[in-house]
Amino acid sequence: MFRQMESAGLQDLHFWQDSETGLQAIIAIHDTFRGPAIGGCRFIDYPDNATAITDAIRLAKGMSYKAALAGLPHGGGKSVIIKPSGLFDRTRLMQSFGHFVDSLGGRYITAMDSGTQISDMDNIALNTPYVTCTREMGDPSPSTAFGVFAGIRASAKFRFGSDDLHNIHVAIQGLGHVGYALASLLHDAGARLTVSDIDAEKVARATAEFNAITVEADGIYDVVADIFCPCGLGAVINPSTINRLNCAIVAGSANNQLADDSMGDALCQRAILYAPDYLINAGGLIFVALNHARHHESVIRQKVDSIYDALLELYKHADAEQKPTSLTADLRAETIIRQASLKPYQAA
Ligand code: NAD
Repeated sequence: MFRQMESAGLQDLHFWQDSETGLQAIIAIHDTFRGPAIGGCRFIDYPDNATAITDAIRLAKGMSYKAALAGLPHGGGKSVIIKPSGLFDRTRLMQSFGHFVDSLGGRYITAMDSGTQISDMDNIALNTPYVTCTREMGDPSPSTAFGVFAGIRASAKFRFGSDDLHNIHVAIQGLGHVGYALASLLHDAGARLTVSDIDAEKVARATAEFNAITVEADGIYDVVADIFCPCGLGAVINPSTINRLNCAIVAGSANNQLADDSMGDALCQRAILYAPDYLINAGGLIFVALNHARHHESVIRQKVDSIYDALLELYKHADAEQKPTSLTADLRAETIIRQASLKPYQAA
């Protein structure tokens, strides 16, 4: 485990168990050099504890990179609640998790993630102030969608010379909280949409509302489009999908889109412009971080929209250096984190 932590550059890893509620949970803190670690709490099925630990470590690192490139005063963290095998009281489980978060004294701020919802955050908030995405604060997904929309416009500007999306064909994979809101923004901007989701109801709604063409879930990789927009699962750019892509740009909300680093090189070699996932999808993190710090809605929106300039600048830099955009983003985030480690933030 220590080797795993070291290779991810992880600062600390915390475990908690509470027999009364059945809570077994993990908090991974990648670093607190730029400020408290921030990142969501997952409540999904894992085949075993080792997989859950690996996921927490990997995701915490990703959050650090995301916060660094977004210029937020935070390090990255992530938590995982192991699903109890028998019957359990979800309300009490989340309240107990609140005690766990609180025990770290503000070094980690939690938020919604896969499998957790606003009501869970409300229950966590009963026992700690270090939580976002409560009913009072709201859902980050619309901000993520706004950020990805800004990033898609920046990508079109760089690749096609104009950020006008009228008649641009976007193939969207996944019509969940982010994908559906994004489809709406793209439709309003005049884009043509092809969509896929494993949920037939969402597909039917998008067809009716946005005049979208639909394809079977697996068929989305073969669609001839200007932009492929992954908004469902991670690792969708992998050795079995990459040569099927028939697009000029990959830009979407999904976390960890590249199965591994070599996929960033492969996209570059195929002259497909890749919007690094943790840069283009930072709108949700910007929302939760600035909302937690009580910034005004207009400030948050302005910061989310700045993803346009950040991405355009990164593309120019990667192009000048003849490097894959994924590598340029990683190197930049690592430099920011390393510099912060020389003069780390101290809690007041
Ligand atoms: P969600 O669970 O609401 O939506 C995911 C959608 O993908 C669902 O509709 C699901 O049916 C669909 N899907 C699953 N497997 C699929 C497949 N094989 N083909 C097509 N569709 C499939 O999740 P979300 O909140 O919309 O997030 C989407 C992605 O964006 C995730 O990777 C998430 O980690 C990432 N993300 C979300 C946020 C946020 O604010 N919600 C922020 C940053 C990153």
